[in-house]
Amino acid sequence: MFNTSPIARLEDLQNEYDYIIVGGGTAGCVLANRLSSNDQVTVLVVEAGTSDNGWLSRNPYFSFHHASSGHQSHVTGSVPQRHADNRTFNLVRGRTLGGTSKINAALYARGIPAEYNEWSRNGCIGWSYGEIEKYFVRAETALDYAERDAPHYHGSKGEWTNRSSASPAWIQTPHARKEVILTAGPLASPLILLLSGIGPAAHLKERGAPMLRDLPGVGSHLQDHFGMPVRCSIPLKDSMVQLMLSTWALLLYVVQYLIYGTGPFFAPEVAVLIQSRLFNSTFTFVTAKPEDEDADLPENIPDIELIPVAWADPRWCMEENTGGFTINASTLHVESVGTVRLASLDPQDDPVVDLNYLAATSDRELARKLVKVTKRFIDCVVEDGYPLQLSEPYPDFEDDEAMDAFVRQKCTTRFHYTSSCRMAPEEQEGVVDERLRVYGVSRLRVADASVIPRCPAAHPAAVVVMIAEKCAEMVKEDNGETLF
Ligand SMILES: Cc1cc2nc3c(=O)[nH]c(=O)nc-3n(C[C@H](O)[C@H](O)[C@H](O)COP(=O)(O)OP(=O)(O)OC[C@H]3O[C@@H](n4cnc5c(N)ncnc54)[C@H](O)[C@@H]3O)c2cc1C
Repeated sequence: MFNTSPIARLEDLQNEYDYIIVGGGTAGCVLANRLSSNDQVTVLVVEAGTSDNGWLSRNPYFSFHHASSGHQSHVTGSVPQRHADNRTFNLVRGRTLGGTSKINAALYARGIPAEYNEWSRNGCIGWSYGEIEKYFVRAETALDYAERDAPHYHGSKGEWTNRSSASPAWIQTPHARKEVILTAGPLASPLILLLSGIGPAAHLKERGAPMLRDLPGVGSHLQDHFGMPVRCSIPLKDSMVQLMLSTWALLLYVVQYLIYGTGPFFAPEVAVLIQSRLFNSTFTFVTAKPEDEDADLPENIPDIELIPVAWADPRWCMEENTGGFTINASTLHVESVGTVRLASLDPQDDPVVDLNYLAATSDRELARKLVKVTKRFIDCVVEDGYPLQLSEPYPDFEDDEAMDAFVRQKCTTRFHYTSSCRMAPEEQEGVVDERLRVYGVSRLRVADASVIPRCPAAHPAAVVVMIAEKCAEMVKEDNGETLF
């Protein structure tokens, strides 16, 4: 299928295209598909990475960065993190047609309406949930909801079903003069703007970069969820580690995936999004009231998340002769803000990335809650009679210092970098307006995870696809083209 995709050799490129999309990733592929729906319109997608679309690269488990050879990924080291024991973090992103959606964990979580209503309240006119829901629906074919069950909420005709549709499904015909749209992702889009002379004047001057437009927000509001992987042991028969020890189990699950499209190779992880305020002081869950379930109320935006996965370092499992189980405990609401800056003027060089994890006091407080909720989760499973065992030292609930030290030492990226070219009023260091146009530069938009106003209480891929869908519609409107 991929062989029929329009990949042009450099010498075959035309001199002019209507639209040039820089970055054929999650957002770029969606935009390319939508903008090229009119045969008269020419679209060039410039992608820095590979174009692998083999079976392994489409399987959600085997193509996941941590389970693959990493040939579709690019890893940038962060600067040492002051509030995390000066550790550096490996910031992974996809470098392939389809982008990070080709190597991510394929978890789909849109977030709740209150999230987007906040965007709208903060000046992003046209982005309230009621106004953007249709873009989520347009993009997806929900696999686990029959259309009749949630016809307004889930789509049944979109291109996005699972990993297999991440790139080829979106780009169908060879289809760039009217606009340039940056979709190179949250680390590369600000880098490209900075290299082009669009960014904070002092930084551009310091690096000897040309100055086209002083835009202090470029690369200045980077955010990311951070989390703590907590390792436990479970019986080997319940752990995916058995797949490495038993050929029969491996074959069984491969056959299950091939025939039914289900099982651990399809969806190895589940995510539980939680409102931490619903725990009382002893960290037992308080029964939710009906108003706690109102998705329109900002206080109901979840702020933490647990992702249990029946997997841990196989070497450790073998040494301990046990099955591995990891609870990826993660924050969903972060206040700390970091930066993407130029290391040099060489476009091949990675940017200098400082996530500034745990800089905000509120993030450290939330991290403590997360540590406690995770322990409660483990206790509840044990109380229910399941042999789950915490397999590493855990800090005392009463000892804030020990808890903070645990977090500093264990915290890790959740790979949800966003907001490095955020949509916000320019006086609030926004980079793009509500139509995703870069302030002060004509015919240039940004439409990827970098424009998300703040790191959402969601998994960003769904949000990115929604943004690309809406961007395509706005580009068409602004250029007098027929809508869908
Ligand atoms: C390991 C991992 C697991 C994740 N798991 C999940 C998950 O389960 N669910 C979820 O919702 N989100 C997940 N995410 C995050 C999510 O996938 C990303 O936020 C989202 O895909 C970003 O989309 P994007 O379009 O902004 O950027 P990308 O998809 O990264 O696309 C950017 C594209 O631009 C290209 N590019 C970069 N520089 C240039 C250049 N100079 N010229 C041309 N092309 C360039 C890149 O090669 C890439 O293809 C995960 C991320 C990682 C790394």
